[in-house]
Amino acid sequence: MPPRWRSVAAATGLLDPSGTVRSTVFAEMSALAARTGAINLGQGFPDVDGPASVARAAADAIAAGANQYPPGTGIPELRAAVVDHQRRHYGLVPDVDTEVLVTTGATEALTAAVLALTGPGDEVVTLDPFYDSYAAAIALAGATHVTVPLVPGPDGFRLDVAALGAAVNDRTRLILLNTPHNPTGTVLTRDELTAVADAAVRHDALVLTDEVYEHLVYDDAVHIPVATLPGMAERTLTVSSAGKTLSFTGWKIGWVTGPAELVTAVRTVKQFLTYVSGAPFQPAVAFALTDPGVEEWVRELATSLARRRDLLCAGLRTAGFDVVVPRGTYFVLADAAPLGYDDGTRLCRELPALTGVVGVPVGAFTHAGSATERRLRSWVRFTYVKRTEVLEQAAERLAGLARG
Ligand SMILES: *Cc1c(COP(=O)(O)O)cnc(C)c1O
Repeated sequence: MPPRWRSVAAATGLLDPSGTVRSTVFAEMSALAARTGAINLGQGFPDVDGPASVARAAADAIAAGANQYPPGTGIPELRAAVVDHQRRHYGLVPDVDTEVLVTTGATEALTAAVLALTGPGDEVVTLDPFYDSYAAAIALAGATHVTVPLVPGPDGFRLDVAALGAAVNDRTRLILLNTPHNPTGTVLTRDELTAVADAAVRHDALVLTDEVYEHLVYDDAVHIPVATLPGMAERTLTVSSAGKTLSFTGWKIGWVTGPAELVTAVRTVKQFLTYVSGAPFQPAVAFALTDPGVEEWVRELATSLARRRDLLCAGLRTAGFDVVVPRGTYFVLADAAPLGYDDGTRLCRELPALTGVVGVPVGAFTHAGSATERRLRSWVRFTYVKRTEVLEQAAERLAGLARG
């Protein structure tokens, strides 16, 4: 058996045939942006920070001495704030002591859950394309990664329900969902979630759901946590974090809620990954999740992001891309095939010189050689979580592609 690091490197596409580990496409594209002075629409982080009141709460917490190890499950105020948030928004009421765990961002919650709940011989089903950390976590666990495509069409990228039925079986230990979905911007519908719930119940699989973009949905789209579907709360772990909701992606405060037995399993692994983290950020996030002013700020962020999405989508269309309009997240997928490019990776390498803009190929969110990689080979992901001036300038530069 190859060493585990090799399986992780291979699963994430970072191991080339000679055994050399390469940097991720994200790192390559960000370095390219830095080197060429191009506008970086590759990596998804806001260029404006979250609410000043929340930043002040963190600074106050440091001054007040919240600087030593917090409790292993997270400070009681933050766990209570997470419970209150789930109740207010979704009618879910996890127990504050046994059904909530604070983690080092959503990433740790997801990885710890996959490590806690799966192992060799187990299958983990994810959507395809998928957030890159999922493949790494599944490989670290030694489990098998099975994917179900989201297929582009007139209603956006939609779940292939027949493929879901074929993918989920009695070896499926976990279905790892992500809605709103990175990179496609899809918000899964009740019908799609019902298909997932039916498959999970039929084969007694657990569901782990990554909902970090829960508040960043646009138009008439509604975010539905799968845990709210009949019979699902008892088999679902729900993950979210402060990063995307509050525009503090560097704080890395996340949480997972669900049945006590499953949360305990995640905590057992989390304990030896980071033990605890973010002592002064925890009270600040607790404040943010309960303050009406911050809640209003988040609503305005979503409204503003929908406008910025429109701006970038229009720019991409003018440039000659086919665009699938996202209903949530920070991202839009654009197809470069109408421009005569069949290879998104090549286009992304050339784009800074051609236009002064950087994106990332959608291939980075697929397994090399998979059907989804082939289907989305000419697609590129761009972020619109940048200031309006930056997006206007990017749109102007991209228009150069159409002019040849
Ligand atoms: C950004 C992102 C994360 C990471 O969240 P952190 O709280 O920063 O760990 C997880 N999942 C998806 C889909 C993301 O886009």
